[in-house]
Amino acid sequence: MNIKIKNAYEKNLRNIDLDIPRNKFTVITGLSGSGKTTLLKDTLYLESQRQYLEAMNYQGTPKPKVDQIQNLSPAILIDQENRNDNPRSTLGTQTDLYTDLRMIFEKLHQRRCPNCQEIISASNAKEETEKIDGEYNVYMYCPHCHYRMEKLTRSHFSFNTTAGACPTCKGMGKTLVIKDSLYQKDQTILNGGIATWPKGYAEYQFKSYAALLKYLEISVPEDIPLKKFTSEQLDLLKYGIYSSEITKEQKEKLPTKVAEGKYEGIEPKIWQKIAEEKDIPKNLKPFIKEDTCVDCHGEKLNALSRLVTVCNQRLPEITKGDLNHVLNWVYEINENEQLKSFVEDYLLDIETKIKRISKLGLVYLSLDRQYSTLSGGEMQRIKLAAVLDSQMTELINAY
Ligand SMILES: [Zn+2]
Ligand SMILES: [Zn+2]
Repeated sequence: MNIKIKNAYEKNLRNIDLDIPRNKFTVITGLSGSGKTTLLKDTLYLESQRQYLEAMNYQGTPKPKVDQIQNLSPAILIDQENRNDNPRSTLGTQTDLYTDLRMIFEKLHQRRCPNCQEIISASNAKEETEKIDGEYNVYMYCPHCHYRMEKLTRSHFSFNTTAGACPTCKGMGKTLVIKDSLYQKDQTILNGGIATWPKGYAEYQFKSYAALLKYLEISVPEDIPLKKFTSEQLDLLKYGIYSSEITKEQKEKLPTKVAEGKYEGIEPKIWQKIAEEKDIPKNLKPFIKEDTCVDCHGEKLNALSRLVTVCNQRLPEITKGDLNHVLNWVYEINENEQLKSFVEDYLLDIETKIKRISKLGLVYLSLDRQYSTLSGGEMQRIKLAAVLDSQMTELINAY
């Protein structure tokens, strides 16, 4: 039996009639711009979707420009496009494998008791749930000294929640840093010392800065290159009224007007601007770089969440390794009947998914790999692996 397309005229297609054999592997090739995608995606795939929805009584899906297509089945579409450029999305979160890991860590994690320093395991500690202001908090007791502590739960192992994320980088693993080149050390403030300050703006800022220094009875570095500034003068230039010395000593009697010295400093203003625009403004881009977070070293989780272990491995160590590394860890848990009994479903899910992804030649990937950095082909194979998970049968695959 064939899929029969009669008179397809969507976009650049000129009245195409075509028979495509069912249950066969069919490749459609042709010059770029000849209409392969229009035929497969915008005609065949959309019409299969439309017929399927109409059969289930969902009316109103627009019909592609084609007189008739016979003998279609519900189709799935696997393309190379990436619709997810969220920097927080990783191979682990995209495939839900990371959810399995979080569940395993909630049930089995080992840590030191903060009171008696003995090693305790979540799997054999007594638990207690308390409801405070509508929110549930889970506690556990140290089996050795009965000390009560908050239990780490699945949300503590997510870098996308406040409970789990590293507080410094908010779970991004990276922080933005202002480069030294912003400060032209051989120049004065009024003569291009701050690379992003045009002359008029530099004069305006300098007045405010000078007023703050006078207010604090510190000498004003007029006509002096930045490299000759005292550390105090430089600190005030960079951080203004937010510099640490000021905030701890004189907070209440600070100038309240810009002209009188309410000078806000170069760096706080830059961070404020980036926060407002939710991006780095174009003129600042050359002076800002991304650096690995100094607190979590790129591991995204808070100190405690990234420290605890299951079978001697920390969660970031598992997501950093390749897929074989994850699989070997799963097998290690599997060998311990008692541990296995708590998390059997999650272990099976990981094993099934990883084997599928590995079969498609992607065993070298790690779960912490940012999803949007995968190549088109890698992404397509990840999508294919997910489709192979589907329990449905006799689907036709397009594109
Ligand atoms: Zn204890
Ligand atoms: Zn961090």
